[in-house]
Amino acid sequence: VEPDPQAGAAVKAADRAHVFHSWSAQGLIDPLAVAGAEGSYFWDYDGNRYLDFTSGLVYTNIGYQHPRVVEAIQEQAGRLATFAPAFAVDVRSEAARLIAERTPGDLDKIFFTSGGAEAVENAVRMARLHTGRAKVLAAYRSYHGATSTAINLTGDPRRWASDTASAGVVHFWAPFLYRSPFYATTEAEECARALQHLEDTIAFEGPQTVAAIVLETIPGTAGIMTPPPGYLAGVREICDRYGIVFVLDEVMAGFGRTGAWFAAQHYDVVPDLMTFAKGVNSGYVPLGGVAISAEIAATFDKRPYPGGLTYSGHPLACAAAVATIRVMEDEQVVEHAARIGEHVLGPGLRELAERHPSVGEVRGLGAFWALDLVRNRDTREPLVPYNATGAAAAPMAAFGAACKKNGLWPFINMNRTHAVPACNITEAEAKEGLAALDAALTVADEHTV
Ligand code: PLP
Repeated sequence: VEPDPQAGAAVKAADRAHVFHSWSAQGLIDPLAVAGAEGSYFWDYDGNRYLDFTSGLVYTNIGYQHPRVVEAIQEQAGRLATFAPAFAVDVRSEAARLIAERTPGDLDKIFFTSGGAEAVENAVRMARLHTGRAKVLAAYRSYHGATSTAINLTGDPRRWASDTASAGVVHFWAPFLYRSPFYATTEAEECARALQHLEDTIAFEGPQTVAAIVLETIPGTAGIMTPPPGYLAGVREICDRYGIVFVLDEVMAGFGRTGAWFAAQHYDVVPDLMTFAKGVNSGYVPLGGVAISAEIAATFDKRPYPGGLTYSGHPLACAAAVATIRVMEDEQVVEHAARIGEHVLGPGLRELAERHPSVGEVRGLGAFWALDLVRNRDTREPLVPYNATGAAAAPMAAFGAACKKNGLWPFINMNRTHAVPACNITEAEAKEGLAALDAALTVADEHTV
């Protein structure tokens, strides 16, 4: 594609004139004007091409512009572009079937939403109505979305400005051995202490007041902390003991990201409700949802479910989901993600950690990896302080700039960079990304002491 800086400048000026951006001080941002994207790459108007190690916001699980999904959306638009949720529509039913067949256990009824936060809102609503209880427990170091209940559940600084005392959310610590809130030194110790802490929290909150425990199966934006063996099974057991609904949020971890259809399948747990979005259709058209257990679905057999959305199960979004799931089956994208994690990304990132003193820990699986960057490996002091801004965040900004200079678009959150490319990234592309990270980590190393 021929560079066209003038066109790029016009696109950016139009953006700055009228587009109000998420999570940003509007006067301080300088968004890149995107000219196009395909597969694992996107490019700007100035002739720069980037390997996308973010999958957008960790959602283009089959990459950009997959021809079969684009064609399915076009075909659906020509046939029936939209229809209201109360009707039975072929493509909606087919999307629900394909999703239900892949979710674990008896999560066989699908309530569609337009995205992840709405899925979490509705999962909490279902749990509260099913139990007749109000309180919801959620973990620190988590993200569940930006609508009112979802942001209250969130356990990172994005919650602070939107926190309201009335939501009935109680936060607890989930396991994270590298930065253990329990002073544990082994996975087994971390697991046992985290479960005891959850039990204690429930005891002091009053088990009969707790409707749900909401957890990301593997926390995503907060740092890709794979739970220790036994933790999620332990939470399942606690939920069963107290009649608490177990909600797993798989908005980011689901649909192939971890090398399984759903991350819960790595841990042999079946929640009562599971939220999804993002990878369900690679984000080509907004779609999310809640997969519902038989028992909770039965609560609403005779009693109306008091929730809904104009675009619930939108035909274009469902057509994109049907096509995406078929592509993932035909091209073995889930198996590929598992393999690329085990044989390329995991070993490659660990090899970088050996050579770069700024890498404190490598965590992850599949196409879902985090590098925890530190000032000092012994103290594990984060490369930048928690929620650092401005000058304090400068080392991470310098690292990010170095990635971009090397043709890699990096995912950066606080002191971490995540390697979260498309699940169908090729081995050669993954190695190209590792080489760019290698060069950029040299910049981070300069800030170690
Ligand atoms: N839950 C998790 C685990 C997420 O990662 C996200 C988004 O990043 C959400 C919920 C919110 O999804 P959405 O932005 O589609 O509302």
